This record gives sequence, C-alpha cells and structure tokens, in this order.
Amino acid sequence: MKRLFDLTGKIALVTGAGRGLGQAIAVGLAEAGADAALVTNRTPAEETKRRIESLGRQAMALTADVADRSRLPELVERTVERFGRIDILVNNAGIIRRTPAAEHSYADWQEVLDVNLNSVFVLSQLAGRRMIEQGAGKIINIASMLSFQGGINVPGYTASKHAVAGLTKALATEWAPKGIQVNAIAPGYMSTDNTEALRADENRSRQILERIPAGRWGADTDLVGPAVFLASAASDYMNGHVLCVDGGWMVR
Ligand code: NAP
Repeated sequence: MKRLFDLTGKIALVTGAGRGLGQAIAVGLAEAGADAALVTNRTPAEETKRRIESLGRQAMALTADVADRSRLPELVERTVERFGRIDILVNNAGIIRRTPAAEHSYADWQEVLDVNLNSVFVLSQLAGRRMIEQGAGKIINIASMLSFQGGINVPGYTASKHAVAGLTKALATEWAPKGIQVNAIAPGYMSTDNTEALRADENRSRQILERIPAGRWGADTDLVGPAVFLASAASDYMNGHVLCVDGGWMVR
C-alpha cells in the first residue's frame, strides 16, 4: 500500500511554495519522497527549502512573477537542468481582489486572470511537453469553491477558478492517453492570508463557519493527503477530477 503513495525519486515543481497552501503541499510531497523546485515571488523560499532538506530531500528555490509569461519557460528548464526531469507540477500561486463587480477595475481583473489562469495554462503546456516525452506526469491545479459558485465581490477570481476547472478537464482529456493525469484540488475555506479579510469580518466569518459541516476552517495541512494522492500512482486512473477538500461545504 505504501508503494502506491510513494514519491521517492519524483521531481515536483510547485508555484507559490513560500507560504500558505503551496508551502504545505511542497513539504508534504517531500515527506512522501519527492525533491522539489520551489517557485516564489515576494516570499523567500528559504523556510520551505530548509524544511524539505531537513527531511533528507533536495529543494531548489526559483524566483518569478508567474504573471510574467516570459519568466515561465526558465522555471521548467531550470528544474529539468537540476533534476533531469519533471514528474509533478502543482499550479498553486493565486491572488484574489475583493471589490464589487460594478467597481472591479480592469487592472484587477487582468492581474487575477494572469496569475490564476494564464500562468496555469502556460506552465502546464511547458511541463506537459516534457511529461509527454517522458510518457508520464501529474499536474495538480488549485481550484476553489468558486470553481462552482459565484462568490461575493470577486468576479475576476470566480471567473479564473471556473476556468481552472475547465482547463483541468481539457488538458486531462487530451493528455490521459499520453500517461499524464491532470486533476485539481478545490480547497474550501482555509486559514491562510488569502482569506484574512473574510476571517477579520465577524459576520462573514460566522456565516462561513456555520455552513461548514466539519465545524472548522481548513488548515494548510488538510491539503497534504489529497495532494500526495493526486501526485502518486494511487490516482493513475483519475483524469480531470476536481477534488473538493472543504469540510463538506459543497454538499450542504
Ligand atoms: P496566500 O496565502 O495568499 O498565498 C498566495 C500564494 O501565491 C503565495 O505563495 C504567493 O507567492 C503566490 N503568488 C501570488 N501571486 C504570485 C505571482 N504573481 N507570482 C508567483 N507567485 C505568486 O494564498 P493561499 O490560500 O495559500 O492560496 C494558494 C492557492 O489556493 C491560490 O490559488 C488560491 O486561490 C487557492 N485557494 C485558497 C483558498 C483559501 O481558503 N485559502 C481557497 C480556495 C483556493 P509570494 O508570497 O512569493 O508572492
């Protein structure tokens, strides 16, 4: 059974790996045996790197603004240069801009789509080409409850996360015959910087908590098991699935 989830010898590229969900996922993949290339923008990757190395695994820090398309090829190239291959891509980097639709600036809309969606397409394409050559690979996109629902005051974010779910299915269909599984994780309401504004709003925070059957906000570590599952041989017959990890939010 252990072998099914074992990532020993696998190479992962994780975006947004310096903090929040991306950090927990990167360390979790390393706990399962993977070495990792860690992409960060404003947060230094040092802490994540240290945690991975203390597990006896290797980690390489890469800095890039994923909204800048010209920076993306080097992320895949440097990963392959250093580790010789790329087995797992986790498209985790994401931003949210909270303003009502009527006032939502085009600049915010554009920035959210560049980070949350366009980078996912381009990085998946770049890593996907390598995986096609290798005949195997795992791509995990981080979706959201707002891949299914409308949300409030976050039109760009909702549009981007619906599109991430659609892109996951499109890539999964094309690449399944090539031995590549593309799936997504849709986290529920997790305690990270992304949801700080919601948790600071007493009313919203209470309303959200009341709707979560599990009775608590999610922790970054709640994504580790699902991420290892989708990165490992245990999910080899899963293609294009959007896995909700939400304490039951979606089924209430
Ligand atoms: P977070 O704590 O706000 O972290 C955002 C992450 O994205 C950081 O690692 C950040 O890196 C990275 N990032 C943002 N803009 C970037 C850019 N231009 N280039 C490179 N990296 C960039 O958020 P989180 O909660 O961990 O969110 C991670 C993912 O989960 C996002 O896709 C988010 O939409 C999704 N999600 C979160 C929740 C939740 O409840 N928290 C729910 C559903 C989905 P730097 O710090 O290095 O800039």
